[in-house]
Amino acid sequence: MGETPLTGIRWDGETEAHREVLVASLRRIAGLPALAFGGDRMLTLGAADALAAGSATAREILSDALGRAMLFVIEDHSGDERVNFAELDAGTVVTDDQRPYEPVVHWKVRIDFADFARVNAGPAVRAAFDPGFALLHELLHGLGKRDAVRVDEAGAVEDVLNRVREELALPIRERYFAERISTPPGLLAARLRFRSAVARGAARTEYLGFYFLQRESGSAACGSLSGMLRSR
Ligand SMILES: [Zn+2]
Repeated sequence: MGETPLTGIRWDGETEAHREVLVASLRRIAGLPALAFGGDRMLTLGAADALAAGSATAREILSDALGRAMLFVIEDHSGDERVNFAELDAGTVVTDDQRPYEPVVHWKVRIDFADFARVNAGPAVRAAFDPGFALLHELLHGLGKRDAVRVDEAGAVEDVLNRVREELALPIRERYFAERISTPPGLLAARLRFRSAVARGAARTEYLGFYFLQRESGSAACGSLSGMLRSR
């Protein structure tokens, strides 16, 4: 009888296609071609000698998350209006009767794959803001990093992810908070500010547009569109 690992990163979604989107994204970002969710749904990074091109910083984030007394459970919330792109719950400390002095923090990572499919941006920006980056963002929260508090900064989490983007020659996210685009009253639409990788000495700011409309809600959870917006 096999025992379910107590810590790690587990895929709890039902849709195989979404799991594959996430796996493909993480393989590309981390340069780990054998990265996979196993039959027990737990993430494995694959053999160390399988390292290909990719971001060393992303590999560090994944290894760090896998090495903690933490269990990250990935839930598929595609089409859920309450989840925009991704979010992490507040975490639950779980103790086992067998191991009372070894608490494990259980985190729920909710990803809305449908939101990423609706992003309106060029291919480089889409590659810099996809389900794999969303998972890394939420893992960094679990590891203790925080989002921006000021409108004009990217924040501690995105600062780390910008190192990942630099290692992959992808556009850099300049700001954490989205900028609101004017819409009919009661609806939300926004854009995120990315700066393209420097090409021939000239960096270019590119907007990642969210041209879908959403009913205004009071939720300010991390990752929600309303939470990402700041009144200015
Ligand atoms: Zn965040």
